[in-house]
Amino acid sequence: MSKRDYYEVLGVARDVGEAELKKAYRKLALQYHPDRNPDDPEAEAKFKEVSEAYGVLSDADKRGIYDRYGHAGLSQGGGPGFNNVEDIFSHFGDIFGDLFGFGGFGGPFGGGGRRRVDMPVRGDDLRAQVTLTLEEAAFGAQKEVEAGYAAPCSACQGTGAEGGELDTCGTCQGRGQVAYSRGAFMLSSTCPACRGRGRVPKAACSTCEGGGEELIERRVKVTIPAGIDEGQSLRLAGQGQPGQRGGPPGHLFVVVDIEPHAHFRRDGVHLIYELRLSFPQAALGGKLPVPTLGEGSEPVEVTVPAGIQPGEHLVVRGQGVPRLDGRGRGDLIAVATVDVPQKLSKKARELLAELQATFERER
Ligand SMILES: [Zn+2]
Ligand SMILES: [Zn+2]
Repeated sequence: MSKRDYYEVLGVARDVGEAELKKAYRKLALQYHPDRNPDDPEAEAKFKEVSEAYGVLSDADKRGIYDRYGHAGLSQGGGPGFNNVEDIFSHFGDIFGDLFGFGGFGGPFGGGGRRRVDMPVRGDDLRAQVTLTLEEAAFGAQKEVEAGYAAPCSACQGTGAEGGELDTCGTCQGRGQVAYSRGAFMLSSTCPACRGRGRVPKAACSTCEGGGEELIERRVKVTIPAGIDEGQSLRLAGQGQPGQRGGPPGHLFVVVDIEPHAHFRRDGVHLIYELRLSFPQAALGGKLPVPTLGEGSEPVEVTVPAGIQPGEHLVVRGQGVPRLDGRGRGDLIAVATVDVPQKLSKKARELLAELQATFERER
């Protein structure tokens, strides 16, 4: 069984605020509370599930790790597993304490609740980009992509502390909250020094410099199928981030990028070629070579009709890009353009002047 998404468990949006989150948890916790559901193991399991979700999402650090790595990140960094309901009361007693009589602070979250959650966790999906030449995209290729991922630092289990050693936060004395007075009221907010964890690293981890992450570098071979197009992606099943405790790995999605080509522009399965003609060629017509795609492939000859206009198409059937489903190839479309020379030799100028004079006489 794979673990459910924490936001989903609590039925909240991913950008949920502190107050809303607390409200959602409180509602569910009361619904599944063991006092209300005596001898109901299903309710107890729900109660643990929502408490675990709240334990993570209400902690800025853990929520950050969860947002980036999913369940896998927390299981290494010491995710909060609650083995019994007393555990939960001791952590969140303050939330429903006024209703059920568990008064006071439940103690620093994370102080004693770092217990293994023995559930398999699926690895996250990864994304990579592969840049292809037009030929590679058209005819297929074998490529390699970087498929590295950030994982919790193995030296400090993602805590950012050298040797994983933590000290009680001096600013909040481990409560995770600091109190301040506003007029006649005493208010409290999340401790800025430990961001609510109640504990701070004794010394920054020398491997990850306190960041709690390490980059796992990896290269993965990718078979590019003939006919793939720009922006399409290939799914390499099971090539994502590894799963935890027997959970399946995620997938790797490889997004295709295609380099510009010297001769051709691609339009789906068709290749567009700009057939540049001089004015006499366009006027007189004739046979002209057009390059085709592929290493060592021979040019084909196209017949340019006399009087072809700029923008007119000459279609060479079957010389386009192979279809992804293997059912033949698209067409090569030569689009006529007419070049106007910017520099003329003396001879050319004389001939053109004579041509112009002829046009005027014939008008
Ligand atoms: Zn603190
Ligand atoms: Zn580290």
